[in-house]
Amino acid sequence: MPIDFTKTTGFLVGVDSDGCAFDTMELKHKECFIPNIIHHWGLKGVSKYAREVAEFVNLYSKNRGVNRFPALVEVFRLLQRRPEVVARGVKIDIPEVLVEWIKQETKLGNPALQEYVDRTNDPLMTKALAWSIDVNKTIDYIVGEGVPPFPMVRESMQKLQGQADILVVSATPQAALEKEWANQDLAQYVQAICGQEVGSKKESLSFAKLYPANHTLMIGDAPGDYKAAQANEALFFPINPGDEEASWQRLFDEGIDKFLNLEFAGAYQQELLDDFDSHLPVHPPWKQLD
Ligand SMILES: [Mg+2]
Repeated sequence: MPIDFTKTTGFLVGVDSDGCAFDTMELKHKECFIPNIIHHWGLKGVSKYAREVAEFVNLYSKNRGVNRFPALVEVFRLLQRRPEVVARGVKIDIPEVLVEWIKQETKLGNPALQEYVDRTNDPLMTKALAWSIDVNKTIDYIVGEGVPPFPMVRESMQKLQGQADILVVSATPQAALEKEWANQDLAQYVQAICGQEVGSKKESLSFAKLYPANHTLMIGDAPGDYKAAQANEALFFPINPGDEEASWQRLFDEGIDKFLNLEFAGAYQQELLDDFDSHLPVHPPWKQLD
């Protein structure tokens, strides 16, 4: 899906939406994704563990913010190795057809999955699509008109206005994203909104090539956001999970000025990355089978 984008200033700022601009990660995962994982994938017998694993993968680990399909596979992988799940005799299968699709498709959203299902009629992919569609329906119902942005998000957008082009870079479906940014009256500050149908975060941030070195900053709450920044030689300002308010305050008070004054790269960037790293573990807190 192509998008309209015009460079109007000398700087570019990419900003992630879920869990970064908006405090929607907890609500979406705990109330929308996880109940549908348990329902669609036959995990009622191990719901407690499925919930714990899915929360770890999507909210409290280095996988935070990963696209829903690879995140689902990771949930199955971790569940397979939980002793409690094995003890209950619940067999967790990894849908290999989904794993293959994830490897080959860059636009990991319902339109591409629908197209795959129409072409192949694969039963596991049909199930994945039904799950994904129900997740979106639940988000519509539960999240509804959305939640307000974190404190200092609007103020930061206003501070950047006229000095930097702002791009929403997200793995959320385009329609949901446009609705959230419009409902919270934030769409007025951004040059373009890039959801999952536009491409991966890395692809969407590739407008960075229109700007000189150290003139693009990505703001995100997950390692995937940092990877998208690195791939495009952009700087990165982390919104630390669990410490979002302080992070936005710091961006407003100090980060934006350092970026616009070209004082961001180097020691300041490293200090922010070290702090971010300490907020997200790699290994789950429970015992895993080998
Ligand atoms: Mg995020």
